Amino acid sequence: MARYTDANCKLCRREGEKLFLKGTRCLSEKCSFEKRAYAPGQHGQNMRRKVSEYGHQLREKQKVRRVYGVLERQFRNYFKKAEQKKGITGANLLQLLECRMDNIVYRLGFAPSRKAARQLVRHRHFNVNGRIVDIPSYSVRVNDIIRVKDKSKSLDVFHIALKESRGEELVWLRLNKAGLEGELLEIPKREDIPIPAQEQLIVELYSK
Ligand code: SF4
Repeated sequence: MARYTDANCKLCRREGEKLFLKGTRCLSEKCSFEKRAYAPGQHGQNMRRKVSEYGHQLREKQKVRRVYGVLERQFRNYFKKAEQKKGITGANLLQLLECRMDNIVYRLGFAPSRKAARQLVRHRHFNVNGRIVDIPSYSVRVNDIIRVKDKSKSLDVFHIALKESRGEELVWLRLNKAGLEGELLEIPKREDIPIPAQEQLIVELYSK
């Protein structure tokens, strides 16, 4: 499976805001965006171009894609699915992305970032309803129980991540810290998804 491997911090600087791609580092003074809040590259500091409507739409799409760590083709497929569902396409898109296995593992606090969550999922540390799931894009369903498998429960990585987690309590997830398990209680409503995105711009972009 292809994945993005360039420096994560450059992505935040390119998008002009913190995307929180690196776990605890993002909350520390080591955060590159805190030190250099301008676009990467030789001319990053001097870039003051007027951004077109298309430019705004494109940047918003890139931002959301990068937050969830999804490549272009996969992102477009999510958009197609979102269009086919009932309801508001932009909200549907974010809901589909939020229900990805790697995102749920991150949201529950078992990993410091989505990237780390993806790796832990690939390394077969989790099961869903008792069956190992090692596909980061796996779509978690309502009432699914996501659990760290018994053999992995003693690994420090989960306990450290939970301790250092940003502590966002989400109404659509239930976390049992002691049992290292969580449950998707409902598909999140848009207002319960803590992503500062204007998803309507993405809909406009793909609708051209
Ligand atoms: Fe972005 Fe985190 Fe890097 Fe800061 S440390 S620039 S928030 S990825």
